[in-house]
Amino acid sequence: MSKTNQTWKEMDITDPKERIKALTEHASRVEIDPNIAPKRYYRTGVEMVRLANMNMQYHYYENAFTLYMKFITLFVDKIQHHPQYDSVSAKDKAMNRDALRIVIPKAEKLKKQLLEQYQAELDKYLEDLKEKERIEKERLRQEELQRQKEEEIRRNKMAALAAVRAAKAAINANVLVEAKSLPSIAPKTVISATNDDKALKISKDIKTPTVDRSTKPSLLTSDGLSLRDVILPTKLMHNFLTLAFHNTMSNKETCGILAGRLERNKLMVTHLLIPEQTGTPDSCTTHNEEDIFDYQDQHNLITLGWIHTHPTQTAFLSSVDLHTHCAYQLMMAEAIAIVCAPKYDETGFFILTPDYGLDFIANCRETGFHPHPSESPLYMKAKHCKLDVTALIEVVDLQRK
Ligand SMILES: [Zn+2]
Ligand SMILES: [Zn+2]
Repeated sequence: MSKTNQTWKEMDITDPKERIKALTEHASRVEIDPNIAPKRYYRTGVEMVRLANMNMQYHYYENAFTLYMKFITLFVDKIQHHPQYDSVSAKDKAMNRDALRIVIPKAEKLKKQLLEQYQAELDKYLEDLKEKERIEKERLRQEELQRQKEEEIRRNKMAALAAVRAAKAAINANVLVEAKSLPSIAPKTVISATNDDKALKISKDIKTPTVDRSTKPSLLTSDGLSLRDVILPTKLMHNFLTLAFHNTMSNKETCGILAGRLERNKLMVTHLLIPEQTGTPDSCTTHNEEDIFDYQDQHNLITLGWIHTHPTQTAFLSSVDLHTHCAYQLMMAEAIAIVCAPKYDETGFFILTPDYGLDFIANCRETGFHPHPSESPLYMKAKHCKLDVTALIEVVDLQRK
């Protein structure tokens, strides 16, 4: 993934049609993983549209367009090839068809809008370039003018000097000369020097403009190209550990879903949702995920990752955790996994390495706890996670007690 991204960054896409094409191609690179249940794709579809709408709201049109196109690719071209496609409920299919009816014309409209925007950016860029060239030409012309004037001054000075010498010589020799011609030479020098100062000043005023890189059509900045910050309330970890306390004491894992929304190009975790679950010392299984989905739908929330405890172990991602997280990160590049290890007073914020781990785990067919090769790191610290001490978190416990 990152290789392609680098290529885009290096490429000089200035043609509006090429830019749209690159964006569309990026969006169409959606692969169906047969190990992920189709239901999960339909679920993500709902969130994709939700996130796209949030992007629209904040005028991140490229991101919105990419998400709509991904949605279309996924549900028009790809999902029917999923081996368990028949297991999708009629309700999910109907809802999806309704969504497509809205998304397709939206994407078309957005495409036109982006084309216009790119054209305007290109026009401005070319105009700026022309202006820059014009200024540069003017600067060179002024320099040449300056050079010519300096030469003229020198010539005049020499002439004046020669005239003075000649006059002195004539006086010394007591030769009568028409001295009237002398003053007319000296003032001329003064005048031309004054003009010259002016020319120098003008040429200094015309500065070469600093090249404003932002006027150059920006390259694609859509999801997957650079990770947006995920803002986490510091209270989240404390609240989660308090809620998990009883399980932790019984040496059972606890897990929760991180949900939130897009705000000013940051993904804000606003809700911690606790699903119905059963925990063991090294695993946690969720049930009745529908409850979580319903809650998210009602509150317009998108899934931003998950959190779980390691009652007796350190904060790391086990092989099972890696596979669990893979499903989250495949759906959302920024999705994070938080591991709380109270025994060691450790908290880990992780993602699969986007250039290796994500692909590797997505293609690993093993289940249960199993070894993975350790040559390259499969996961890493999530650097795009930012803690906010003032942010609030709403904890929603959906467990039926
Ligand atoms: Zn774990
Ligand atoms: Zn594996």
